[in-house]
Amino acid sequence: MARIARYYREYGIRLVRGYLQYVWDDSGRRYVDCNTNHGVAFLGHANPKIVEAVKRQVEELWVAPLNFYTPARERFIEEFSRLLPAGFGVVFLQNTGTEAVEVAVKIAKKVTRRPTIVAFTNSFHGRTMGSLSITWNEKYRKAFEPLYPHVRFGKFNVPHEVDKVVGEDTCCVVVEPIQGEGGVNPATPEFLKALREEATRKGALLIIDEVQTGFGRTGAVWAFQRYGVEPDIFTAGKPVAGGLPIGLAVAREEFGDVFEPGEHGSTFAGNAVVMAAAAAASRLLREEDVPAKAEAMGAELAKALQSINSRLAVRVKGAGLMLGLELRVKADQFIRPLLERGVLALTAGVNTLRFLPPYMITREDVEVVAAAVEQVLRAAEAAG
Ligand code: PMP
Repeated sequence: MARIARYYREYGIRLVRGYLQYVWDDSGRRYVDCNTNHGVAFLGHANPKIVEAVKRQVEELWVAPLNFYTPARERFIEEFSRLLPAGFGVVFLQNTGTEAVEVAVKIAKKVTRRPTIVAFTNSFHGRTMGSLSITWNEKYRKAFEPLYPHVRFGKFNVPHEVDKVVGEDTCCVVVEPIQGEGGVNPATPEFLKALREEATRKGALLIIDEVQTGFGRTGAVWAFQRYGVEPDIFTAGKPVAGGLPIGLAVAREEFGDVFEPGEHGSTFAGNAVVMAAAAAASRLLREEDVPAKAEAMGAELAKALQSINSRLAVRVKGAGLMLGLELRVKADQFIRPLLERGVLALTAGVNTLRFLPPYMITREDVEVVAAAVEQVLRAAEAAG
């Protein structure tokens, strides 16, 4: 028998079921899921409304190339449009976040005919060769160099250096509104404003990567709306199809016809089952006012994490239900002890514990999470 290639740390736990904010292992043990596969299960595991839509679609039609219309795709674009700020009229369908970034950059390259992509320290944009080229951390990229050569990294959150890094050769500036993998680092309003102004001044496009922040997690549908700064293109992914693979780039109307037939494509993009799931997810986001719930429960979780009594805890970062607890020590040592206390969490950067729970997390869940974190930190203190 073949085996699955191993490039992940394994925890020896077999997950057999997921429902809303919880997952269960094969011994029947329940966990509060603040990992959600890096934010994918933001609308909960097996959310009944999405399950229903997928079930119906699975009986009807799975596979249809983009050349043909399908009711599933029509329903998706109708629902998803209601989540878009005015002026963002075109959606490019992909299957993953990294592909969403790739297509956004391809649009910028074709529109401007310039080579250079500007990205920032601590960025993460994906693991295909293009998006990896604009991902900062050596641990992801070093083994694969040389990557796409025309990349300049500016300093994240240093607005007065933006004019030095964005030039006449720049096709696009790519930035996360809150860096996820890099440490749950929110961009400052001054920084995003400086990027917008400088991109406009130099004729480059501003691409905001919302793959982790987007679709309600930070308390707004799109995190850039919290800043009053608008990109030319933004990306989304992770939770948009309720757990099925999706990625998309959303662009201003004027970029809708940028590609000639053949210049872009993707076999699985717009898959009918994924579209049915994404239509149901988009509708649910609006009908249940998910961003407002993320904001409210995020405030609860932030407060609980802030009041953790441990000298290893430094501060809480992030927005809505995208939160990091910065520690004085490396964070990865706490993932397994948290599992043992019934909490799935993530790390970000080197010394941040990251929490990306589903929006329906309750006050009781928050208490469970905060108590578990306090226990594992205090155990580490006691161990010296
Ligand atoms: N951009 C950002 C901001 C991300 O956080 C991620 C995934 N962590 C990606 C892009 C890549 O998404 P995917 O893994 O779906 O390709």
